[in-house]
Amino acid sequence: MSIANNFPKGEIKELKELLAVSQRIVVTCHVRPDGDAIGSSMAWYHMLQGMGKDVSVVIPDRAPRSLMFLPGSRDMVVFTQHDLWSRRLLRDAELVLMCDFNTSSRQGNLGDIVSECNARKVLIDHHKHPDINCDVVFSYPEMSSASELSFRLMAALGLYLDMNLDCATCLLTGMVTDTQNFTVNCDNHETYEIMLRLLETGVDKSRIIREAVKSTTYSALKLNSYAIGEKLEIFERHKAAVITLDAGELKRFGYEKGDTEGLVNEPLRIRGIVYSAFLREDADCVKVSMRSVDGFPVDKICRDHFGGGGHLMAAGGEFYGSIKDAYDILLNHMGDYDKYLPKNISKQD
Ligand code: 5GP
Ligand code: MN
Repeated sequence: MSIANNFPKGEIKELKELLAVSQRIVVTCHVRPDGDAIGSSMAWYHMLQGMGKDVSVVIPDRAPRSLMFLPGSRDMVVFTQHDLWSRRLLRDAELVLMCDFNTSSRQGNLGDIVSECNARKVLIDHHKHPDINCDVVFSYPEMSSASELSFRLMAALGLYLDMNLDCATCLLTGMVTDTQNFTVNCDNHETYEIMLRLLETGVDKSRIIREAVKSTTYSALKLNSYAIGEKLEIFERHKAAVITLDAGELKRFGYEKGDTEGLVNEPLRIRGIVYSAFLREDADCVKVSMRSVDGFPVDKICRDHFGGGGHLMAAGGEFYGSIKDAYDILLNHMGDYDKYLPKNISKQD
């Protein structure tokens, strides 16, 4: 299979050896885990379980409800709920697989514990500029998702035929969510070859899309409608859209983790809008999410002002201050980024 042959031989050999000599393995991912973080991590969980390994998935904080349909999701050890257990698993691990993040700070308080544990470490990620201490680094920013990368690695390891339905379901969930149902970040035709292979295992794509993308609750639907109806602001000159939701508003709609997933994409449907920002006042920080089209670098804005980063057209950050300050910073600096706007956007109808 051509999709398995793109990795340096030495690194695949190294990964194969690490897997062969390690019995106790921990798989981990980034904070506020999304479909790709959980999908890639849980895919390795199922694969390694099938190989008879003593494998655990330790995640920095809870996964959103939309991902709890994934097979084995109740087995995940949540660091914020099981601090000692997480520490013990990492202390005893011989190997740690780190999925879907590129710097230790993306793991919140779990980051130091992972960095300091004695296990050998392997990075499996698709974000640019990895800055993390690992024994083997698989960093492929051109790939749609860490889940796609994981599929390719499994194939390169000769494990393709061992990929069971549970593993395939997790991988396809990661690919579906990070590509927004195969609409962004998936121009490589090989991505569809991988989808085909996953479908051949019998995975239920419709169910994945229903559970991980479309399903919501009445209160979450109302919160999102309120955000669009009452809180969306358009800055025509900068071709930008901004939504803010403060703690009081979130409380009013009974906000739960994951309820605003995808909200930041909605304003991009407006003709002429090039980028969209969503600021949400969480308990510990203001969560910044940004999306764009036409190569507008929202990762730069997130890096410059919100201690974050990500992909060129899908990025985020955390702001430690008031939501008003975050909003003011965003607005005050909009002009700095006008130079990246595409020149020939047709005016709105
Ligand atoms: P989201 O807006 O869905 O939370 O994040 C979109 C993308 O932005 C993520 O896949 C990740 O690459 C990046 N990202 C989100 N939050 C942060 C952050 O706090 N720090 C960094 N470095 N990247 C982030
Ligand atoms: Mn990802």
